[in-house]
Formats: sequence, structure tokens, C-alpha cells
Amino acid sequence: AVFYRELPKVELHAHLNGSVSAQTIEKLISRKPHLNIEHSMTAIGKGQRRTLDECFEVFRVIHKLVDTEEDILMVATDVIKEFAADGVKYLELRSTPREERDTGLTKRSYIETVIKAIQKCKEEGVDIDVRFLVAIDRRNGTEVALETVNLAEEFMLSSDGLVVGIDLSGDPTVGHGKDLLPALQKAKNSGLKLSLHLSEIPSQLDESDLLLSLPPDRIGHGTFLHPEVGGSQSLVDKVVQKKIPIELCLTSNVKGNTVPCYAKHHFKYWYELGHPTVLCTDDKGVFCTDLSQEYQLAASTFGLSHEAVWKLSQQAIDSIFGPETVKQQLKEKWNDLHPQLF
Ligand code: 5GP
Repeated sequence: AVFYRELPKVELHAHLNGSVSAQTIEKLISRKPHLNIEHSMTAIGKGQRRTLDECFEVFRVIHKLVDTEEDILMVATDVIKEFAADGVKYLELRSTPREERDTGLTKRSYIETVIKAIQKCKEEGVDIDVRFLVAIDRRNGTEVALETVNLAEEFMLSSDGLVVGIDLSGDPTVGHGKDLLPALQKAKNSGLKLSLHLSEIPSQLDESDLLLSLPPDRIGHGTFLHPEVGGSQSLVDKVVQKKIPIELCLTSNVKGNTVPCYAKHHFKYWYELGHPTVLCTDDKGVFCTDLSQEYQLAASTFGLSHEAVWKLSQQAIDSIFGPETVKQQLKEKWNDLHPQLF
């Protein structure tokens, strides 16, 4: 277990409000005792499984606990420090800007506060490079998606390179990608990178085909893309030809019941193809995991040697949305750390 913690890691798929640890949830609960929220309502423990629907209910509970600038600052700061303590050297956080009438929170101040947390950690010398992806919740439709992209474009220019892209997430059973395509295209044209949740559930083949035409810069999950699970060879061919890296979250998919067991996770399919795959946590708080545990799980499930695990974490650097200079710095860091682990 020490190897996996000390392994330098890149985390590219982490939803802010899904990443809140038990300790931070306790602090939030004590700030808002009147909500009568218990910790069991915000996390899915070992051996437990839920439907995706139930997972989205958990996010609604957490959103009640996180509804002021002060909350967001604490949550983001804690989450960044926890990833750093787990050996993550580069982190892309994603979060959906929310407005809350009761507390005066606006989408703009939401993004500003996440940026403030990133800057605060940097000033404190936390050993991690953090970037931000502004998330579009697919449930909210065309207008909100455009509004979100406009905000993200603005922050891309004013945040000193901290805002680097757009995430498309939210309940995959609601809405259709075709309504979001213009906003995503606009984002791409302006230089924002795109990470899109694709084929997280079966029956999204048309949507995935459409969104792949953008093409996105990375894919979240892609659970049902390949033909063995009802996807199609032509979807796989597109992903392979365009070399679009896939973010894979083992525990999240098993606990959220879209994958029957670890051994049947689609990591195997894409890894054996030699396609760029990046292990990620998704929601480390909700699914009670961390990135070292995800690497360890992949290794024990699929029989990866320490060398193979090292290569996996090193190759993740090529899939980051940060600039080329950061890639180079990370590669040097990995080279410096290699002798300590082997
Ligand atoms: P937030 O954006 O509020 O920081 O993080 C929680 C949100 O992330 C959820 O409301 C949901 O929109 C998105 N999210 C978190 N985990 C998942 C997931 O596994 N699948 C999808 N499609 N969306 C997710």
C-alpha cells in the first residue's frame, strides 16, 4: 500500500462535491445542524452498491450542505490538500457552478471561490498543481450550457491559466447531447478543452457518436462504448483513431452499478488495446476511495506489476489539459521520484 501512496499520480476526473471527505462533511454538518443530515446520507461505504439514480440523490444532499462561498472555499481547500496527501501531483478539479438565492451565491462567485482555494493552496506551498474544469450539468439544457461556457471563457482568460476546460456531466438519463452541441462547439473554438461523460449507461450510442464528432479532448467513463457491452466497433474505431484518452473510475462504476464487478471493468478492454487510459476517483468522498486505492485495485484485479503501474501513472501526464511546460515539469518530477520507488 505504501507503493501506491508514494507513487506520483495525476487525477483528471474529480467532481468537487463528490470528493468531500468524511472529516469535511462533519464540519459542514456542524455548520448546518438544522438540516438533520447524517454522514450515512453522503457516502456509499465498502461493499455497498446503489443505482445511479440513488447516487445523484447523494449529490443533492451534499449540495444542501455546500451552499455558501465559505463552504466552497473550505471544501475545495480540503479536497486539494487530501489529494496532495495521497501523492497526487497534478489535479484537475471539476465542478458545476451553482447559484443559491438564500445565500447570495452566484455562478460567478462560485467559480471565483474555487480559484481562490487553488491559489490559497499554492501560496501555502501544497505540493500539487491544480487546474479547474467548469462543469455543465446536462439536466439544465441549452441555455444554461451556453451561459456556463461564456463564464468559463471569461475565466480562462482571467484566471492565470487555472481554468482550462469544460466538463459535461450530470444524470445521463436526462436530456440529449444534441442540445448541448452548440455550447460545446463554442467552448472548443475558444480554446477550452473538453472532457465529456460518454456512454455511461447503455442506449446512448447516437449521442456518443454525435459528441465524438467534436471531438472531445477526453472521455469520462465510456462504459458502454465497446461492442462487448452493446456499444459498437465504429465508436471504438473513432476513439482509437482520434486517440482520445479515457478517464476510468473503477470503484465509482462498481458502486454505481454500471459495471457488474471489478474484473469486468472496461479498463481491461482499453488497456489491452494499448489505448490511453487514466485511472481516476470520480467522487472520492461519495465512493469512499482515493487515487492510490484505485491504482492498487487496478493492479490487483488485472495483475499489473509495479513497473506497469508506474507506466500507467506516468502516461497520464500526456492527457492533462494544462500547458506543455507543465507536462515537462511533471515528467521531470516523475523521473526524479522513480529511484525512490524502485
Ligand atoms: P459538483 O459539480 O457539484 O462539484 O459535483 C457533483 C456533480 O457532479 C453531480 O451533481 C453531477 O452533476 C456530477 N457527477 C458526479 N459524479 C458523477 C457521475 O458519476 N456521473 C455523472 N454523469 N455525473 C456525475
